[in-house]
Amino acid sequence: PYVIMSDCIDITDQSCVEECPVDCIYVGERKLYINGKECIDCGACEPVCPVEAISQDRRVPEEQQEFIEDNRTFFSEV
Ligand code: SF4
Repeated sequence: PYVIMSDCIDITDQSCVEECPVDCIYVGERKLYINGKECIDCGACEPVCPVEAISQDRRVPEEQQEFIEDNRTFFSEV
């Protein structure tokens, strides 16, 4: 699945939300989150993000790995 990283924090542009065909991008308090169980890996969200905060999970750089975990936490709480 795709993951939204730190650059989304306090931006929450939501262009990706409109682009996602399965509506799996959710709005959190300070950033958006992709539900990894619902994401179909289509890639449509990545190019529309104005701050390039979206990446496929296997391409997430080392310093952004915490957002994979942060994402899991978000969906276990909602
Ligand atoms: Fe939605 Fe596709 Fe982005 Fe997954 S990769 S969050 S399905 S737009």
